[in-house]
Amino acid sequence: MSIKERLEDVERRITEAAQKSGRKREDITLVAVTKTHPVDMMNEAIKLGVTDIGENRPQAVRDKFNDVLPVKWHLIGQLQINKVKYIIDKVCLIHSVDSIKLMDEIERQAIKHDLVMDILIEVNISGEESKSGVSKDEVWDLLEYAGQLTHVKVKGLMTVAPKTDNSVTNTLHFDNIRQLFLDIKQKKYDNVNMLYLSMGMSGDFETAIECGSNMVRVGSAIFGARDYSQN
Ligand SMILES: *Cc1c(COP(=O)(O)O)cnc(C)c1O
Repeated sequence: MSIKERLEDVERRITEAAQKSGRKREDITLVAVTKTHPVDMMNEAIKLGVTDIGENRPQAVRDKFNDVLPVKWHLIGQLQINKVKYIIDKVCLIHSVDSIKLMDEIERQAIKHDLVMDILIEVNISGEESKSGVSKDEVWDLLEYAGQLTHVKVKGLMTVAPKTDNSVTNTLHFDNIRQLFLDIKQKKYDNVNMLYLSMGMSGDFETAIECGSNMVRVGSAIFGARDYSQN
């Protein structure tokens, strides 16, 4: 299948899942995840209407940036403190913030570049050790801390569901984080605006949308399998 056909299929499935949960296609942001893929594939997707691109490595954002057509860039993967500088003036949203130290560095770099950076707090809903993100209990400290920052704005939560074929388990996880999202929204923290709930990937984006996600990060369902040996 071509990227065009795959993208059309993903679009149709997003629309259907949105409708099932009483929303419209426009209520969901599709972040097309292009990690490991070359810039010509990215440009092809952008010409087909993709507006948002997600990369998991800061170096990839830095290296590809100038060769890609105008688009919104999202940093979705783990971000080391010393790599914030590669992406600070390139991305519109950092999905993977999981420590106060990282928030501090984003603030520092944002001040330096005279911009305001939107971030999501990454939550580890499953509690799996190997996963990045803060626990549901730790998230409150980060939200509290955000009140002191002037160049960083918290816009929501992000999560990566555990790999499983069991959609019941993922529904539980997704429902859990949706509830957390709503709880935070109700508490009204300074400098925190719960706009985006980033959850759902190729294997589970319909489930995620039905559980309230409004931002999905879809890679292989659009671009096919990734070849990590090239990276
Ligand atoms: C790679 C990646 C995705 C996309 O994964 P697919 O299964 O290819 O859709 C989404 N989110 C994060 C954080 C990723 O690293």
